[in-house]
Amino acid sequence: MVCLVKENCGVVGAFSLEGYNVTPLLIASLETLQHRGQESWGLAVVNHETFKRPGIVFQSIDVEYDKIIRINGGSGIGHVRYSTTAKSTVEYAQPIDIGRMTDNKNFRIVHNGTLEREILAENLKGLGLSPPQGASDTELMGLNLYVLLKKHGSWIEAFEKLNPCLNGSFSLVILAPNGEIVAVRDERGFRPLCIGWHEETSSYIVVSESCALEVLGAKLIRDIEPGEIAIINRDGLKSEHFAKCEKHAHCPFEYTYFAHPSSKIEGITVYNVRKNIGRILAEKYPVEGDVVVPVPDSARPAALGYSERSGIPFEEGLLKDRYRRKGGWRSFIEPEKREVIVSKIVAVKEVIEGKRVILIDDSIVRGTSSKIIVGSKLRGAKSVSLLLTFPPIIYPCYMGIDFPSQEELLAYKVCGESKNLEEINRKVAEYVGASFVGYNDIEGLSEGIGLPKNQLCLACTTGDYSCLKRRPIFRSREEMRR
Ligand code: SF4
Repeated sequence: MVCLVKENCGVVGAFSLEGYNVTPLLIASLETLQHRGQESWGLAVVNHETFKRPGIVFQSIDVEYDKIIRINGGSGIGHVRYSTTAKSTVEYAQPIDIGRMTDNKNFRIVHNGTLEREILAENLKGLGLSPPQGASDTELMGLNLYVLLKKHGSWIEAFEKLNPCLNGSFSLVILAPNGEIVAVRDERGFRPLCIGWHEETSSYIVVSESCALEVLGAKLIRDIEPGEIAIINRDGLKSEHFAKCEKHAHCPFEYTYFAHPSSKIEGITVYNVRKNIGRILAEKYPVEGDVVVPVPDSARPAALGYSERSGIPFEEGLLKDRYRRKGGWRSFIEPEKREVIVSKIVAVKEVIEGKRVILIDDSIVRGTSSKIIVGSKLRGAKSVSLLLTFPPIIYPCYMGIDFPSQEELLAYKVCGESKNLEEINRKVAEYVGASFVGYNDIEGLSEGIGLPKNQLCLACTTGDYSCLKRRPIFRSREEMRR
């Protein structure tokens, strides 16, 4: 999929048992996690003020190398952001400072996920603090934790007490004033979070995705479990659970679109999942065609899988212009600017002209760019059959992905809440101008990932929000803005 969805951040934390400077580890990890957010970034290192900048990491490093190199210490946290709640200005960048800096219960926090704000604001009032105007979900969670930590003295108790109000998803890392690192994952495990070991600096490293460990030459130890708090300090790594995981709810979107193909989530390599799903699509939809073409970049392994299973040649018929601003990145921008980004995809005419193209994409959210790719980029093709690795998205996501308004979702717009795949395939094909559209189904998704359906969050395709503590109220984008 091209730039349709905003991702919802990457987090990192590092603690060196031998006091090595962890800033280079944090920066390298954030650069590797850049695909999870490009709006702003930041880091907090023990005994240094929090540093936050708009844009992507390397841009700031080019300009402010001398300043950044002076931020050094034996533990720290970092964040790359794209907003799913709150505004997208640098004032909402993370890490967020929580509490008075003169107080030994203050901390800095980075968060991947989305939490219901109303319930956190209400709870905060009950604890005797007024929610700040325009506070993000992360800040509200942090302030609640701050009050509870002062009252109960331990992270585990603070999270146990706050957990009933934590409605949504969170994979987060906290830096305490004494340098302790606290990594926490919600009890459903929607978003990934894993821990590794960097031998050279004797450091534990917590990252959203294992691809960051790979780049550092660090070893993946394991995923942080749903409901787990991992605390890292001079005594090493200690783990406790603040909640029992009744039912895992992995977000399958991480596997099909968000995560880096080289990442391993719960022991499953994302690249393999995408390729498996391509094979499954080839069996489900044995479409006649001359070439299999991926929409760059995330659909490439699925297209390879489709090509392998069908025997139809794989071709790079669409390429991203890597040297234009945003062209080489996965770009997440406002809906009205999407056409601009799609324009940075260039078709290789010789590959597509006069051919029956089997176009593989990971998903359709609003349908805007699929329509442009089919109608304009692939003009000259004899026919275009569009196959999608993710099932129809009919309901909004309240667990960290930015498709929060149902009215915008193409499958809903053309078919309402119908789950009739044939009807959705037909109507979406009419809308995007393809000869044929074939969505994956839930069974194919589950088989491709290698996890049972009941361990996946499928709310955006089924409307079953039982993995949340309370069902969300659907709002239009306009209502949310207000
Ligand atoms: S609603 Fe969809 S995108 Fe959101 S967490 Fe669930 S599966 Fe992932």
